[in-house]
Amino acid sequence: MHGLAGGSGPCENAIMDERQFYDEKEETKQIPLTCPHCRQESTFPVRWMVRTKKAQPPRGGNEEDRAKFAKARSYMVRIDNMVACRNIKCRKRFDLTGQTVFLI
Ligand SMILES: [Zn+2]
Repeated sequence: MHGLAGGSGPCENAIMDERQFYDEKEETKQIPLTCPHCRQESTFPVRWMVRTKKAQPPRGGNEEDRAKFAKARSYMVRIDNMVACRNIKCRKRFDLTGQTVFLI
C-alpha cells in the first residue's frame, strides 16, 4: 500500500525543480557602502548566488518544463543581508539595501 493520496499517473510527472535549469555558483563581490551609523564608506564583500541557465533543458522534462526553461533567465540573488561596519569605533551591523535579484 502506498500512503499517498491520488496516485494517478507515473512518478515522472513530478514537478521539475526550477534549480535543474541552472548551474549554481557562489560569488563574492566587493560593494562600496556607507555605514548609516558613522557615515564611513568602505568596501564590503557581499555574497551572491549566481544561477546560470544551462545550455540544454534538463532531461525527462515535459512540455511545460521545456516552456518554463525557454522563459528562464540567468540571474543572481544576494545571499548576505547584513554587513558589519569596518570602522572599529562603530562596528555596527546594517542592512544591505537595493535589489536582491539581478537578471544577468
Ligand atoms: Zn559605522
